[in-house]
Amino acid sequence: MNMELSRRTFLRMSGAGIAGTAIGALGFGEAEAAVAAAVKPFHLVNTTETRNTCTYCSVACGIIIYSKGDLRKGEKADIVHIEGDADHPTNRGTLCPKGAALRDIVKSESRLTQPMLRKAGSDRFEPISWDAALDKIARAMKDDRDANFVTKNAAGVSVNRWLTTGFLAASATTNETAFATYKVVRSTGILAFDNQARV
Ligand code: SF4
Repeated sequence: MNMELSRRTFLRMSGAGIAGTAIGALGFGEAEAAVAAAVKPFHLVNTTETRNTCTYCSVACGIIIYSKGDLRKGEKADIVHIEGDADHPTNRGTLCPKGAALRDIVKSESRLTQPMLRKAGSDRFEPISWDAALDKIARAMKDDRDANFVTKNAAGVSVNRWLTTGFLAASATTNETAFATYKVVRSTGILAFDNQARV
């Protein structure tokens, strides 16, 4: 049979095979078939695998998110497991304790899942939509840049800088996204530009 196996599939299959073979070696005859028939369905059977990047630090380890629920049938996807991506060149399947706890963080009741706004004079934050948040940030940036952009320094040299707004980018991203983010931010004249990896 011509069969292509990913490393993960191979490890899963060989794990099941070793269990059956070990029992067979103890003299249980047809034990291997019996084990295969009785074994409980694997935790990850019928899950959807989604590749992603750990959210935490600049190592940017590759992860695989396993979810159940078919979106095409209108079902809600639910994450049942997250593990390191064995095929990822950065971490080759490994995760540090923070990365290994990602599923708990995703499902944490205190996790922030939408933008929050504290209006002027208010003592509490209220949820707003992503569109409203983006509009608000864009408006504030435009107004501040228009008011404070510096085209020339005291000596009359062109500097084109914007010193009154800063930008904090995320490190858990691809090189391409980071490159595009850098270009966009620097094109506005912002100098105070840092990254989550240094916080
Ligand atoms: S698993 Fe750990 S080392 Fe890897 S990106 Fe996440 S926090 Fe960083």
